[in-house]
Amino acid sequence: MTQTQAESFIKESKPVSHGETHEVFNQPTALEPYNAYTSDCALQYWVDRFSAGWHQSQLSEFGHRVGTDLYEAGFAANKYKPEFKTHSRFGERIDQVDFHPSYHLLMQTALEAGHHSLPWTEKKMGAHVVRTAIEYMHSQADPGTGCPLTMTFAAVPALMHQPNIAKDWVPKITANHYDPRNVPFYEKQGLTIGMAMTEKQGGSDVRANTTRATAVNEQQSGPGEAYEIVGHKWFCSAPMCDAFLVLAYTGTKEEGLSCFLLPRWRPDGRKNEMYVQRLKDKMGNVSNASSEVEFRGAFAWMIGQQGRGVRTIIEMVSMTRFDCMVGSSAIMRQSLAQAIHHTSGRSAFGSMLHDQPLMQNVLADLSIESEAALAISMRIAHSLDVLQQDPENQHEASFNRVATAIGKYWICKRTAQFTYECMECIGGVGVVEDNVLPRMYREAPINAIWEGSGNVQCLDVLRAMQKDPNVLNVFMAELMKAAGQYDEFDGYMKALRMEFVDMTSIEYRARSVVEKLAVAWQASTLIQFGDKTVAEAYVKSRLTGYSGQYYGTLPTDIDVKAFIARATAVK
Ligand SMILES: Cc1cc2nc3c(=O)[nH]c(=O)nc-3n(C[C@H](O)[C@H](O)[C@H](O)COP(=O)(O)OP(=O)(O)OC[C@H]3O[C@@H](n4cnc5c(N)ncnc54)[C@H](O)[C@@H]3O)c2cc1C
Repeated sequence: MTQTQAESFIKESKPVSHGETHEVFNQPTALEPYNAYTSDCALQYWVDRFSAGWHQSQLSEFGHRVGTDLYEAGFAANKYKPEFKTHSRFGERIDQVDFHPSYHLLMQTALEAGHHSLPWTEKKMGAHVVRTAIEYMHSQADPGTGCPLTMTFAAVPALMHQPNIAKDWVPKITANHYDPRNVPFYEKQGLTIGMAMTEKQGGSDVRANTTRATAVNEQQSGPGEAYEIVGHKWFCSAPMCDAFLVLAYTGTKEEGLSCFLLPRWRPDGRKNEMYVQRLKDKMGNVSNASSEVEFRGAFAWMIGQQGRGVRTIIEMVSMTRFDCMVGSSAIMRQSLAQAIHHTSGRSAFGSMLHDQPLMQNVLADLSIESEAALAISMRIAHSLDVLQQDPENQHEASFNRVATAIGKYWICKRTAQFTYECMECIGGVGVVEDNVLPRMYREAPINAIWEGSGNVQCLDVLRAMQKDPNVLNVFMAELMKAAGQYDEFDGYMKALRMEFVDMTSIEYRARSVVEKLAVAWQASTLIQFGDKTVAEAYVKSRLTGYSGQYYGTLPTDIDVKAFIARATAVK
C-alpha cells in the first residue's frame, strides 16, 4: 500500500471526530476582557460618595487596562520570577534584579496613572479616594507590584521631614514616570523608594535592630547630613528602588533609632555599598523581588530628628498599612468577581449554580464582606483627604490613627478565608494555576503579616488608646453617628462599651476587642455613608450572633439575588 492509499484508508475508515473524546460544555467563558471600574458598582459608588467623581474617565480607562493587558501581565510577572544578578559579565558587582517585561508594564501603567503620587500632586478633595481606587484595581491584576508602588507613595510624608533632601527627591518621586534603569538617581526623572527596617533578630520589635550609622564628617552630624551605614536587613522588598528608608542607631539604644535615606548609587556616581545577598523564595507576592541586603559602609542621609527615626518612618508605615487594607479588599473583589462569574456560567443538578439557594447564600455573604471591606478602606481614604485639606483637624487625625490599625487587622485577616471560599465556589478548577484564584489565595496572608502582623496591629490599637484616652472617645463618637437607626447596632454598641470597663485583661483580649470594633465600624460606615440595602444586610448578618467563621450563613430575609447582581462584574 502506498502512503497516499494508506492515508485515504485511514480517512475513510475513521469518523471525522476521531480523537475528540468530548465536547466542552457547561464551562463559563473567561471574565476578561472586562473593565474593573465600570463593572464594579460598589467601587463607583464610593468614588462618587467621597468626592472623587472628577476622575471618573481616567478611572474607567485604568479599569479597562486592569481587565485586559494588566490582567495578563499579572500572570506573566508571577510566572517568570525576578532574577538576581550579582555581577556583570565583566565581573563588576551590580546587584541587579531583572524582571519580565510584564512587571515593567504593570509598574509603568500604575506610575503613569498616579498610583504613587496623585494626592501629593493633585491636592484637591477626593484625591486620596481616586488613588485608592487605582490601587484597588491595580492589585486585582497583580498585588506584587503594589509593594514598590505603595512604598514610593508612602515615603513622601516621611521625606518631608527633611526639606533639604525632599526638595531634590520628592519632585522625582511624585513624577508619573517610570525609569527602571540601574543608574544614579540624579540621571533619572522618575524615582521609586523602598523601605528596610526588618532585621533577622527583630521585625515587629525594630528596637532590636543592630544596624549602625556614623556621620561621614564628625563636625557635620544630624538631620540632613551624610552617614555611613553598617548592618543587614532581613527583608528589603523591591531592591531595584532608587533609595530606601532605613533605620539605624547612631548612639546607644536609649538614644533611639534614626531614619536614613540610602540611595542605590552614591551622589558621586559610585555604586553604593549596598549588597543584595539573595532574593527570598516566597509562597506568594512572587512578582515582587523581596531581598536580604547588607550595608557595608553605605552612604545615607539622615531624615528627620536624630533618635526619632521610628516617629519619622511611622508616617510611611501608617500609609503602607492603609494600603494593606486596600490591597486585601482588592484581593477579595477579584476573587468574588471570579466566583460570581464562574457560578453564573455553570450548572449542576439541573440549574445554574448561582441560582441555587445555598450557593446564593454563600455568594451574597461574600459580597457583603467585600463591600464592607471596601467601605472602611474608602472611609480612611476620605479621612486622608479631610486631613490633607485641614491638617489641624484633631478629631479626624485621632480617628485615622486608630481606624487604620483596626482596618489593617480586620480586612487582612478576613481575606485568606474569603479567598479560599471563592475558590471553593469555582470548584476543582479554582485551584488550578490557569485561574487567578490560586495566586490571590497565596497573596492573602501576606498583607496580614507584613507592615505589622495581626497581634501587632491589635497592640497598636491599645497603645493609641493608652497614649491618648481621647482616641477611643473619638472612635466611638464616629461609630455613634450611625446610632438610632437599627436596634441591632445600638445594642451592639452598648455591649462594645462594656469591653472597656475592666482593662486588666485588655491585652489578652485584644483580638476579640479589635474584631468587635472593626465589625461595629464597618456597620457604622455602611449605615452612615453606604447603600441602605448593604447596610441593612450587614447589620442583620454581622451584628446578630453571626458566627463569621464560614460564609453562607446569612439569615433568610436577605435579598441574596440583589447582592449577587450588584457584585456581578458586568462586561
Ligand atoms: C513578602 C514580605 C515582604 C516584606 N518586605 C519588607 C520590606 O520591604 N522591608 C521591611 O522592613 N520588612 C519587610 N517585611 C518584613 C515584615 O514587615 C515582617 O516580617 C513583619 O513586620 C513581622 O516581623 P517578623 O517577621 O520579624 O516577625 P516577629 O516580629 O518575630 O513576629 C512574629 C509573630 O509574633 C507576633 N508578635 C510580635 N510581638 C508580639 C507581642 N508583643 N505580643 C503578641 N504577639 C506578638 C507578631 O504579630 C507575629 O505574628 C516583609 C515581609 C514579607 C512577608
